[in-house]
Amino acid sequence: RAKRSEDEHCLFFSQEMNAEAAARLSLEGDLRRALQLGDQLAVHFQVQYDLRSGQPSGAEALVRWTHPGLGPIPASTIVGVAEDSDLIHDLGDWVLRTALAHYANWRARGCGRLLIAVNISAVQFRKAGLVERVIALLAEHRVPPADLELELTESILMQDVDHAIRLLEAFSHAGIRLAIDDFGTGYSSLNYLKRFRVDRLKVDQSFVRNVTENGNDAVITRAIINLGHSLGLEVIAEGVETDAQYAYLGSVGCDAVQGFLLARPEPAEKVLNTLLGHSVAS
Ligand code: C2E
Ligand code: MG
Ligand code: MG
Ligand code: MG
Repeated sequence: RAKRSEDEHCLFFSQEMNAEAAARLSLEGDLRRALQLGDQLAVHFQVQYDLRSGQPSGAEALVRWTHPGLGPIPASTIVGVAEDSDLIHDLGDWVLRTALAHYANWRARGCGRLLIAVNISAVQFRKAGLVERVIALLAEHRVPPADLELELTESILMQDVDHAIRLLEAFSHAGIRLAIDDFGTGYSSLNYLKRFRVDRLKVDQSFVRNVTENGNDAVITRAIINLGHSLGLEVIAEGVETDAQYAYLGSVGCDAVQGFLLARPEPAEKVLNTLLGHSVAS
């Protein structure tokens, strides 16, 4: 139990720090152990739907961690803790590998082809060798590159535009799809957008939330959809919670939707049942 006393030692010396920093320090150690053990971590999936056919078209992989003492830890906290340490690379690889393994299993059990969306963090994106690792993992799980979509935020892309352009080229050369997540909340310049080789824009949920009540959010949502289509990109809206939002997005030509109205993020086994139910019904 040397590890445990080491942690207590750390906590003892952190008394002068603020509580949040101390909590982070111990979460970091706990996450490191969780990655070694594996069983506290999971990848859940939220199904995405094509707006025209109403059929499932993809699923976003979202990391989940049930801490033995604290219970479920929010994904944004997990990623924050991992990014502040070197853990994000192991975590990112683990999420990718686990998501692809689940998808390969779904396919083997009769599920049709889907887009599997995986979030990539800023730190992961900056480190050399990401493209090669993703390609190797796809080959390992025999998943076609075209079935994987990596989600990047505008701020990740704008941090180092030349690096981003090169990496996006490499991914798209390998046949891997790319999406800009939380679109509209960052600082991407339209001038760069045309140079970023991406396939899809993901309208941020902050616009979708009030799309039927707030005129400005409706205008912005329509503008993103039109901008995307003009650039030859698909557009998906996230955070769809009501029938009215769903109907509105359909009426303005959005291509796909994701949100609690249609499906919550759920364990892989549950998602497979939903998906197989769908393909039987169709
Ligand atoms: P995101 O990529 O924008 O993911 C969408 C988030 O919105 C998810 O939260 C999802 O559960 C939530 N969501 C989906 N539909 C609705 C809805 O209708 N209403 C509302 N209010 N929320 C909805 P989650 O799982 O807590 O993840 C939060 C963020 O953490 C993600 O935002 C993403 O930035 C990050 N994240 C999650 N998993 C991973 C991961 O494996 N790797 C990395 N790098 N980041 C991840
Ligand atoms: Mg995402
Ligand atoms: Mg998002
Ligand atoms: Mg987000």
